[in-house]
This record gives sequence, C-alpha cells and structure tokens, in this order.
Amino acid sequence: MIERKIVIIGSGPAAFTAAIYASRAHLSPLLFEGFLSGPVGGQLMTTTDVENFPGFPDGITGPALMEACRKQALRFGTKILTEDVKACDLSSYPLIVRSGRTQVKAQTLIIATGASAKRLDVPGTRDGEFWQKGVTACAVCDGAMPIFRDKELYVVGGGDTAVEEAIFLTKYASKVYIVHRRDKLRASKIMVHHAMKHPKIEIIWDHVIKKVEGEEVVGSVTLENVKTKKESTRRASGLFFAIGHQPNTHFLNEQVETDPSGYILVKPGTTRTNIAGVFAAGDVQDKVYRQAVSAAGSGCMAALDAERWLTEKGFDA
Ligand SMILES: Cc1cc2nc3c(=O)[nH]c(=O)nc-3n(C[C@H](O)[C@H](O)[C@H](O)COP(=O)(O)OP(=O)(O)OC[C@H]3O[C@@H](n4cnc5c(N)ncnc54)[C@H](O)[C@@H]3O)c2cc1C
Repeated sequence: MIERKIVIIGSGPAAFTAAIYASRAHLSPLLFEGFLSGPVGGQLMTTTDVENFPGFPDGITGPALMEACRKQALRFGTKILTEDVKACDLSSYPLIVRSGRTQVKAQTLIIATGASAKRLDVPGTRDGEFWQKGVTACAVCDGAMPIFRDKELYVVGGGDTAVEEAIFLTKYASKVYIVHRRDKLRASKIMVHHAMKHPKIEIIWDHVIKKVEGEEVVGSVTLENVKTKKESTRRASGLFFAIGHQPNTHFLNEQVETDPSGYILVKPGTTRTNIAGVFAAGDVQDKVYRQAVSAAGSGCMAALDAERWLTEKGFDA
C-alpha cells in the first residue's frame, strides 16, 4: 500500500491550491482528481468566462483557469491520480483512502470534493441544450453577463437562496420572477419581506418550469400552474436554479461530522474537522460564499493546517 503525508481529494480550486502549497512544502501530496464523480477540474469546468478571479483583468475561461491550477500543482511535484475515491477508513491511524485501483495510508487527508448545484431535469436546461447559455445555477457568478443585462430573468426556488439570488439579479435585470411551486416561500420572513416589496421582483406562485426554448441562448420559458395545469409561455433571457447544493461527501460514509445539509463542519477559523488529521476545504465545507477564490483560500489554509498538524504530532513535515 502507498504511504503519503498528505492525500488530497478533489480537483477544483481548493484541491489544487492545497496541492500547490503542500508540494512547495516538500510534502509530496497525492491528489485524487476524480473520474466520474463530477467534472474533473471542478465546477468551473462547466462555465465559460470567470471574471472575478483576481489576476485576470480580461477574465479567463473556467477550464483554462483549472488547467493552469493543475499545471501549477504538477510543477512542484504533486502526484495526480485520475480516480474517484470510493471509501475512506478514518477510524484508525494512519487514515486509509481507497479508490477502485489504489489504496493509500495517509497521515493527513484534505477533503476538497466540492458541492454540486442541484438542477431540475427540465427540457431545454440540460448540458448541450441551454445550460450555460442562459440557464445557470449561480447568480453571483453569472448575473453580470451581458446576456442578462436589462432582461427578464427567472429564478426557480423558494428558500433564502432563491430570494437572495433574485435580489442580486435586480442589479442587472429589468425584471426578476421567482417561480415557486407552492403558495408560500420557505425563505425567512425578512427575506420574503424584501422580495415582496422589491419593485423589480414578482413572485409567480404555484407554478413549475416545464421547458426552456430559444435560438442561440434562452428566449422563453414555459410555466405550468400546478393547480389548474394551465401552461403559459413567457419571454425570458435567463433561468437560474436556486434549489440548493449537494456537498460531495457520500464516500465518507458519515465518518466526518456535517451539518444537516451535508456540509462538513470545520472548527471556526481553521479547516480542521472532528477527526484528527482530516481537513476540509472549498465548497464541501462552505455553504455561504461558494466562490472559486474563497475555495482556493481555504485550500491554502488546509495545506498549512495539515503541515502544522504533522509538525505538532512530531511527524517529519
Ligand atoms: C456554472 C457555475 C459557474 C460558476 N462561476 C463562478 C465564477 O465566475 N466565479 C467564482 O468565483 N465561482 C464560480 N462558481 C463557483 C465555483 O465554481 C466554486 O465555488 C468552486 O469551483 C468550488 O471549488 P472546490 O474546490 O470547492 O470544488 P469543485 O469545483 O466543486 O470541485 C470538486 C471536484 O472534486 C472532484 N471529486 C468529487 N468527489 C470526488 C471523489 N470521491 N473522488 C475524487 N474526486 C472527487 C470532482 O471532480 C469535483 O468536480 C461557479 C459555479 C458554477 C456551477
């Protein structure tokens, strides 16, 4: 069985930043970048222009940014395996990490497996249809794109996230419609109040999205009233899913403490989990910010936390 001081799981900004720091510190990290567990390279592989990652005044595409991060990790000696981690045994020490092909004894483990934005399976919204051509799951990331400027946009959801995203989008849109399948929002009272009094927001109660159509980009949405079953097609330039995220933690088999939504809990101000030697970085432990730069920042923290932990325990970090 291979032995490593640091094993990193993930391939987004958090994992590669952790790998850059750990490999520059001569800790020879082994990184499982995934295979079928999600887009290799993380969520940014599913987007086009990233305009808010510092250092790129003209923007950079998500795939180009992730390719550069991967190259930087390789440059300092990170060993990358294109395999999914299927299971971990964190009940004894050293920690055991297993993919289908590889088993590793790890002194420390950094979990940076991200979270997947939940999407509804609606015709027109899938990959290869209008996904990323007006259909998205991140208002903060994509809201400022020219295709959404002064246009009518639709947000699907009924919780705080949906209302926050709708309010954020009012900066750019001419009108934002929140489509909710019930006659009451799940969002907190204060958020509901903000949404109801906002002049650019209208809530469409008791409706679901049936399909999205357009030419090159989204042009219309068809809604169905869940009570009357009546359908109506409306002009639309964007559809934003705001129905939550699913942290990618199934392979941990509940060994690491999470909140009720599945986000890994870390000790405030650190990346330490409830298990000694196990650290978490990026969206898998962050339900608030969920941005590439915050993921990268916590990847740096995780590598430094792991290095310090190895030193404290008397391992030759
Ligand atoms: C469409 C879209 C557009 C976005 N645009 C922006 C933007 O413009 N600016 C911005 O700052 N943020 C943007 N974001 C958010 C940003 O992508 C995330 O905050 C960031 O990617 C989180 O990074 P992460 O390192 O935590 O993990 P992720 O990017 O989620 O990557 C995790 C990866 O780990 C791998 N993995 C998962 N499970 C396993 C396993 N068991 N074994 C091995 N590997 C595994 C998978 O390959 C997975 O893709 C966008 C998100 C989306 C969905």
